[in-house]
Amino acid sequence: MKQVRTRSMFVFVLVLLFFAGIIYFTVNICINADSWVQHSYNGHTSGSGGLEKAGKIFDRNGVVLAQTVDGSRIYNEDYDTRLSTLHVVGDNSLNISTAVQSVYRSELTGFSYIWGLEMPQSFRGGNNLTLTIDSDACKTAYNALGGMNGAVVVMNYKTGEILCSVSCKTYDPQNPPELTEENESEYDGAYLNHVLSSSYTPGSIFKIVTAAAALENMPDIDSRTFECNGSAIIGGEEVTCMAHHGTINLDDGLAQSCNIVFAQLAYELGRDKMTAAANELGVNSSYDIGHAPTVKGQYDVKNASDNDLAWSGIGQYTDLTNPMQMCILMSAIANGGNRAEPYYVQSISGSDYSPFTGTEQSGKAMLKSSTAQKLNDMMRYTVSSNYGDYMFGGNLTVCAKTGTAEVKEGESNDAWIVGFTRDEDVPLAFAVVVEDGNFGLTTAGPVASAAIQACAQTLRN
Ligand SMILES: [Zn+2]
Repeated sequence: MKQVRTRSMFVFVLVLLFFAGIIYFTVNICINADSWVQHSYNGHTSGSGGLEKAGKIFDRNGVVLAQTVDGSRIYNEDYDTRLSTLHVVGDNSLNISTAVQSVYRSELTGFSYIWGLEMPQSFRGGNNLTLTIDSDACKTAYNALGGMNGAVVVMNYKTGEILCSVSCKTYDPQNPPELTEENESEYDGAYLNHVLSSSYTPGSIFKIVTAAAALENMPDIDSRTFECNGSAIIGGEEVTCMAHHGTINLDDGLAQSCNIVFAQLAYELGRDKMTAAANELGVNSSYDIGHAPTVKGQYDVKNASDNDLAWSGIGQYTDLTNPMQMCILMSAIANGGNRAEPYYVQSISGSDYSPFTGTEQSGKAMLKSSTAQKLNDMMRYTVSSNYGDYMFGGNLTVCAKTGTAEVKEGESNDAWIVGFTRDEDVPLAFAVVVEDGNFGLTTAGPVASAAIQACAQTLRN
């Protein structure tokens, strides 16, 4: 009798364990299934990248950027279009982790908890993705880069739609490179979307941040003048400027990009106020762009010497900024202080997807409206008095600031331009960085000009 009881106890425990296991498995499926299915080691889906049944990807004008035909993934027929949209669309693999073919894999493949990947076609909700980008503008920006590496991003700062986003190096998703030891360096950085995932030394575009800190903390800044003799001792050591600007105020300091003005300001403002301004303007933040994070920039002067602090105010020292983050800052200056929420995916057919989850569009305050207005005017003055409107085709009212960042002494520089348009019908914010680009105005300037003119044409059509 005792033996029977022991046995039934044993069976009871086994049954209990069995049901506990089933419950554990079911709960896990519910929580993790859609990420499991996307893993490249999942043989069902990774044969042809798991995209054998995936939907189409359209640009904003209905141009097909990727589609599946007879189980094969076919990208746009135009070579330059494929290369210029690679980092937004993605390839068959999950190599570009921020691309929509990686991030929206479940939606594209029509993965369902009930049916898995075998959901009958007739049951499937739509699984086509329509993007906000204009592939023609991406191609134009890619061609303007002319083989140089870097990042270009243009967005509508009233809606947050990203119209143009290009990252180089790039490759053809239709014929992805087979990496060998010999060609590995050739594709260095090609798997990163530099718009979202790279940060660069900002150089003079960081003077916008220092100007914001001065505007918010120095009541007499408008009447203040500085002396530039081509160099000055600030914080015990030398800071150099590209020119002898003589007596100069804040507005001309930005327009002429005088180092002495902004190095002096950073030194006087001090570590805490400069750090507060950098944080307020998002330099140390990561943003969520349609479930893909941007890399954080860096403003860290904790261990900086007084002279380092001065250099940090002109975008050197250890400063880093990310192109998308700078574009977001431009949207805030253009929008009276409220930043846009950028996104790549406009709609997913047959789903209740919305680009905004819980956050109101254009509602996020980033800087005081008075500061935004003043910076807006200063950046407009920089173009009208220095760069010239002809640079941007003459039919747009552009506000901008360039930067030429010294990466390593004696080596070539990274060239930046950031800005926005004032045109009501073409509200564009942009950021362009060109690696080894020498001067911001001459290298990044024409790329930005080509990209925003292409985007303007799209919005005006
Ligand atoms: Zn100067």
